[in-house]
Amino acid sequence: MERMRTIIRRIDRKKLQNKAAIQAIEKAGGILKAGGLVAFPTETVYGLGADALNEDAARKIYEAKGRPSDNPLIIHIANIRSLRKVAEVIPEEAKKIAKKYWPGPLTMIFEKTDIVPYGTTGGLETVAVRMPSDPVALEVIRAGGGFIAAPSANTSGRPSPTCAAHVEADLRRRIDMIIDGGQVEIGVESTILDMTMTPPMILRPGAITQEMLEEVIGEVAVDRSTISADSRESPRAPGMKYRHYAPRADLSVVEGPMELAIEAINRMAAGRIAEGYKVGIIATDETAGRYRSGIIKSIGPRADEMAIASHLYGILREFDDEGADYIFSESFSTCGIGGAVMNRLLKAASHHIIDV
Ligand code: AMP
Ligand code: MG
Repeated sequence: MERMRTIIRRIDRKKLQNKAAIQAIEKAGGILKAGGLVAFPTETVYGLGADALNEDAARKIYEAKGRPSDNPLIIHIANIRSLRKVAEVIPEEAKKIAKKYWPGPLTMIFEKTDIVPYGTTGGLETVAVRMPSDPVALEVIRAGGGFIAAPSANTSGRPSPTCAAHVEADLRRRIDMIIDGGQVEIGVESTILDMTMTPPMILRPGAITQEMLEEVIGEVAVDRSTISADSRESPRAPGMKYRHYAPRADLSVVEGPMELAIEAINRMAAGRIAEGYKVGIIATDETAGRYRSGIIKSIGPRADEMAIASHLYGILREFDDEGADYIFSESFSTCGIGGAVMNRLLKAASHHIIDV
């Protein structure tokens, strides 16, 4: 594909009124309106933005990411009024959920209107929509015309980017602009909730959990393929079927009582190192001191699911940079956002789980 110059601009999300910030957002808006690609921070992960209503612009996203063309894009909006333009039917429940959790890390799926091109929905009659809360994201969406398709700004299959350096590593010279707004807040992608089904169904777990949604609308179903490791059912979100979020190394997740898991990881790491391989270990603050060999990284304190979520993708990328051949990871709590973390970790490991 064509190589281009990528403009990179830093923005302090607390100083959006600065002249430099205003100019950068204007520049981004101009590029998006002209059908170009701009990566920007959201509260979940960095997104690769394009005008969602312009089929040619959306196509460029697939090209830059190497994304399979049947994997639909999420349309990002900056205000609730915009929802009517892209969603044919807005169920009462969706209004309640939007009121409570938008702007925020939640995507809802609706029947699409005619203005949404099939190039954005991967040929589907439905459309995924999210209103993010990150102030930089909201400004970029507004400046770009209000309907911005923005999948995660990584090369397809690699871990999603949680800082601008990750975007640069994957997409520099393939996209027009990167807005560097620092580290993202959450670190895993949005919850996806299909509002075209009764009861609504979670297709991808995220920071907004089943319990949080059920508090607002009652029963919410969960796509089985997101929970069971060996599910043969194919996921309902087309993108969830691809090997995803994955580092280059062979990743295994070790499940079981902590003492046994530590022992098993020590044994397997020593074995691979003896064979001449480079080994990484994903530990926690409590356990990091217990490992005897390999590159040991703590993902955070065991009880802090938010910290673990925010460090997951960065650690996977660090191991890539350091040339790890094998990674052994402990497994983590599935409370709160922990459910999303374990969903991504198991996918990254292609469900390679070792039970001890
Ligand atoms: P990403 O933006 O990279 O986090 O990927 C978007 C995710 O949303 C993918 O897993 C898609 O399959 C999913 N998605 C987008 N639109 C739809 C839709 N209309 N129906 C089901 N899943 C969707
Ligand atoms: Mg993605």
